Amino acid sequence: MNIYADNAATTKMSSTAIEAMLPYMSEIYGNPSSLHTIGQNANEALYSARERIAACLGCSASEITFTSGGSEADNQAIVSAAELGARKGKKHIISTAFEHHAVLHALKKLEKQGYEVTLLDVHENGLVTAEQVQNAIREDTCLVTVMYANNEIGTIQPIAEIGAVCREQGVLFHTDAVQAAGHLAIHVAEQNIDMLSLSAHKFHGPKGVGVLYAKKGIRLATLIEGGAQERGRRAGTENIPAIMGMAAALEDAVRNMDQNTAKLTALRDQLINGISEIPHCALNGDRTSRLPANVSFCFEGIEGESLLLLLDHKGVAASSGSACTSGSLDPSHVLLAIGRPHEVAHGSLRLTLSEENTAEEAAYIIEAVKDVVSYLRSVSPVWRDLQTGKRQYVIA
Ligand SMILES: *Cc1c(COP(=O)(O)O)cnc(C)c1O
Repeated sequence: MNIYADNAATTKMSSTAIEAMLPYMSEIYGNPSSLHTIGQNANEALYSARERIAACLGCSASEITFTSGGSEADNQAIVSAAELGARKGKKHIISTAFEHHAVLHALKKLEKQGYEVTLLDVHENGLVTAEQVQNAIREDTCLVTVMYANNEIGTIQPIAEIGAVCREQGVLFHTDAVQAAGHLAIHVAEQNIDMLSLSAHKFHGPKGVGVLYAKKGIRLATLIEGGAQERGRRAGTENIPAIMGMAAALEDAVRNMDQNTAKLTALRDQLINGISEIPHCALNGDRTSRLPANVSFCFEGIEGESLLLLLDHKGVAASSGSACTSGSLDPSHVLLAIGRPHEVAHGSLRLTLSEENTAEEAAYIIEAVKDVVSYLRSVSPVWRDLQTGKRQYVIA
């Protein structure tokens, strides 16, 4: 068995996306800023990709800026709102404790520059409410940034309601929709979103390319100085092959969303039900308000790292949290944010599926997880202490 269940870290490119890219690496290789026909052919492709992506998001093409991915889009959105706020003397930003590091670290940097950041509590179920946002908004708030869906525990935030509160209060609203794009419906106008980030490699497109949507009238700050590409909002020759791959992948995902959601939800629930049979484990994040492809558990008395290595041995590629934090021994800030104590946060497992996974694979994963957890517990001194009552269980 060889099962990839780490699609929140990255996805395999679809053949549609690969095929959409190929001509732009060979025949249509021009620089879209060139005035000759070869360049203008590339420019036309760029224009069409922008229109097609805008159609998927419910905005107009001029509101799309191409970036190098989700991290850059998050950074640019936050810096832009911060600069706009500072001009009006507004230097307070609201976010949540379980954002992606691209958001949290950008906010940390702003704090050092004199901004004040309020991180909202995400509760045990991994959800924030529009009411919390409403209560946190102050006279000097210049930005609210709340992710659409969490990358570790998959919980889905009430984005449209939060956007409505921000509109009413005249505060800019950004959402990191990297995990949502291609999986959940997005319509920036209907959902009251001012800025939104997405990344192609999370929906079967290429790595190193993403989008920052910014509502008309929002002046974006530049992170990269240089030429006048992207209407002066992002310098550097556009990565046309990647942009074409992203447009094709996003259209594909949006077209097949209902069908994929039904399939993924069934697989997800099969995994959740099967893994829940293991004693002293707990699902992370709300049971229903979660991405159709996300399964996240904490197990008492084991180390997530060993769990992953042994699962890999059995042919299952999974994750303990986000790819960005693996390699560090700190427990996930997301699991701590939902109130998991350190010792349990270390024993986490994230399985994130794609349409290519099957029910047979899910059944195999369940057995593999059961085997590995019981083996690891059999050699764990912590587990022995739990069983003899020397230590108290955290998960009932
Ligand atoms: C993957 C991810 C990012 C970063 O996107 P890159 O394109 O890898 O820079 C940001 N936010 C979330 C929620 C993600 O899952």
